[in-house]
Amino acid sequence: MRRTTVLDAYRTPVLPAYRAVTRKGEHLLKIWCQHCKKFHIHGGISEEPGAGDGHRVAHCWRDDSPYKRSGYELREVGPFTAEAAREARASARR
Ligand SMILES: [Zn+2]
Repeated sequence: MRRTTVLDAYRTPVLPAYRAVTRKGEHLLKIWCQHCKKFHIHGGISEEPGAGDGHRVAHCWRDDSPYKRSGYELREVGPFTAEAAREARASARR
């Protein structure tokens, strides 16, 4: 089992991203931010699942959010649905 080290504080967090498509056909990725208590929206890059995965600059508006320093990594896990939104909020609290 891997032990937690002091370096973990500097690791880039990996957040589950959910794909949404706007009425205009734009592909977006939504991630739940436990610090801002809202979904941040990033571009989906293309229609290909996983195309938007990787490191992003945080869209945090809270100055005390640690993501502002580290950014975060998006990892697409599926479509943005009401259930996905509930699950994202719940997992961030665990
Ligand atoms: Zn945030």
